Order: sequence, then C-alpha cells, then structure tokens
Amino acid sequence: MKKNTGVSTKCVHSGELKDNQYKGATSPLFPSTAYDFIDVDNDKYPRYFNTPNQLALSKKIADLENCESALLFSSGLAAIFSSMFSFIKSGDHVIFQSSIYGGTLNLVAKEFKKFNIEYTLIDSFDINNYEEAIKPNTKIIFIESPSNPLLKVIDLEAIGNISKKYNLISIIDNTFASPINQNPADFGIDIIIHSATKYLGGHSDILAGALASTKSNIEKIVKSSINYGGNLSEYTVWLLERSIKTLSLRVKKHNDNALAVSNFLLNHKKVKSVYYPGLESHPDHELSSRQMNGYGGMLSFELSNLDEAILFTRKIKLIKSAMSLGGVESTICSPTLTSHSKISKEERENLGIFDGLLRFSVGIEDPKDIINDLSQAFDEL
Ligand SMILES: *Cc1c(COP(=O)(O)O)cnc(C)c1O
Repeated sequence: MKKNTGVSTKCVHSGELKDNQYKGATSPLFPSTAYDFIDVDNDKYPRYFNTPNQLALSKKIADLENCESALLFSSGLAAIFSSMFSFIKSGDHVIFQSSIYGGTLNLVAKEFKKFNIEYTLIDSFDINNYEEAIKPNTKIIFIESPSNPLLKVIDLEAIGNISKKYNLISIIDNTFASPINQNPADFGIDIIIHSATKYLGGHSDILAGALASTKSNIEKIVKSSINYGGNLSEYTVWLLERSIKTLSLRVKKHNDNALAVSNFLLNHKKVKSVYYPGLESHPDHELSSRQMNGYGGMLSFELSNLDEAILFTRKIKLIKSAMSLGGVESTICSPTLTSHSKISKEERENLGIFDGLLRFSVGIEDPKDIINDLSQAFDEL
C-alpha cells in the first residue's frame, strides 16, 4: 500500500492475496502444511510463520501499525511470551508497568524465576520511575496503555526515548487502543503487541495474537519463535483477515459509543466516578489526545460497593456480564471478581481499584439502547 493510504483502505486491502485462478474478490485460503522443497529458497511450513495466509495478514497488521513487519500467534499471550523470550536470557532484567494484563503478570510472576530472569514492577506512570529502575542487566521495558482497568495512559514518546538512550527494547501491549486509535511505533516504541482475541477479531469468537516491529527485530523473534511453536492456524488467520476488514469501522463506532456512555455515566447520581481518557476530567486526557487518534471503547465506572456492582451486572439485559472485551457486543465485568481477584483488597485499593468498580467494553449497538439498558439497571439498585 502507498504510504498515504487511509486506514480504512488498509483494513480492507493491505496484504490481500490475489485469487489468480478464479478471480474471486477475497484472499484464498491455503491450509497446506506440506510444501514442495525442490528449487525453493525458503522451506514453507506453518510453524515457520511463512505460509501465504500468515504472510498476507502479517502485512496488513504491519501496515496498520506503521511497522515494517509483523507476526501472528495462537494467542495474545503467545505473542507476549515470544517477544520477550526472543530477547532475554538467564541473568537479564525486565521492567514492567504494574498495571498490565493479569495473564502477563502471571507469566512474569510464575515463570521468570525458573529462568533466573529478574524483574521490577512499577506502580506509577511517572517516566522518572522507569529510568531510575534501569540496571546494567536491563533488556526490556514493557508497558500497556491505556491500562486495565482504570484507563491510565503512559507517555509513549518518553518511554521510546529512554529505551533508545539505554539501548533497551520497548514493548507495548496495544490491545486496548487497537491500531486504529494508537500507533506506538510512531513514538519510537520497538515492538507492538495485540491480543487479536479482542478488537482485531472483534466478534468474541477468535483466540489470536499479533506483534509488529522492524524487519530485523521480527527476524530475531522468528528465529526463537519457531522453537516455541505458538503460530496461528491458517483457518483462524483467514478468519482474522476477514474480521480486520471492518476494524476501522468498528473501532470508530466503539469510540463514539464509549464517549456517549461515559458522558451519561458522568452525570448519573449513582456513579461515584468514571474513568475514560476521552473525558476532559480524566487526568491523562491531554496526553491521550496527543498520542491517540481516538479514545477507545473501554471505560470503567464505580458504584458504592461490591454488592451494588454485582446487583447491577445481574440487572443489565442488553449488555452482557462477561470477562473479555473488544467484541461488537457490550460487556461488563467486575475487576474485583475477575482480573484482580487473586490479589488482596488492600493491594487492589492501593492500585485505585475499589470493589464497586465495573469495567465496560462498550459495543457497537445503538448508543441509546446501551444507555437505556444502563438506566433501567440503575433504577433497580
Ligand atoms: C486478553 C488480553 C491479553 C491476552 O490475550 P489472549 O489472546 O487471551 O492470550 C493480553 N493483553 C491484554 C491487554 C488483553 O486484554
């Protein structure tokens, strides 16, 4: 695609495979796991990340993230694991923002020790704290922005600059923003990761992961990742390509709906606080406006206590109470009962996560119907 091609056009056309045989309009699916080895430079094999559908969709994701290259994985966590373990070895040190996805934290807490890899978790979003945590053996800074569940935002350019200054690899989990709302490579972040299970898939029916970076980083990651074995099945690759064609359309609707809903919540007397970077009252509103193209479909709001939060999730009708996020359907979950259930109430409250908090993945339904559903559930409290 030409450099100035619009993002919606990239979603539809970037990387698409031509059907030279029948001239169909969509990418053909090549599920073969066995390819001719005579007179070819590179042996094709799905686990090597080099089959036609994987290469085609990787091109689309690279284009959407303004990166040279990309890879697909069987889950977001496989992408996260493969990206980190392609660059670290025993004795190295990694810096993590503490408010990252629970599964990533679990990977770090449970597996790093086994490999003698050190790590530091940073509670704050203050860049100085990240720079101060750097040690001679530090290799990676890993961040997530906007964060779960309070939608705090970190300065991407500052993280990119520190990483360059100390020759570290910066990795961001860009799942919440999607490539439509945020392109971290533009701010100097090295590796951009997505749980494609969320917005990229968008219909709550695909488990997949992706990462985008420079050609040379991707070559290094491939070298290790063919040994880890976490690539995505061709059938799901094909389905994910189909899903991403509507990504820009969906995310714009998610953005609009989340802003409408957060304004409704802001004015509701039963809501103690609303966290959405699109609101001027959000502490990171200005920073978000600088580094994001849209504020996303994720928001959180706080009710009085856990009982009220549980009652609320029982009373919603159109909106589903469900874990995950990023689907076309609106879903609400309680961080206390899901993502943050394994840490103590005190630890949660230190992070600003009170028991009355509900995280809302705002879908693409008509906003008035979402708001009406919230309204009737509030009336039941
Ligand atoms: C879901 C999620 C992941 C993990 O992705 P899986 O596809 O479930 O492996 C990582 N990061 C964030 C922000 C997520 O929401």
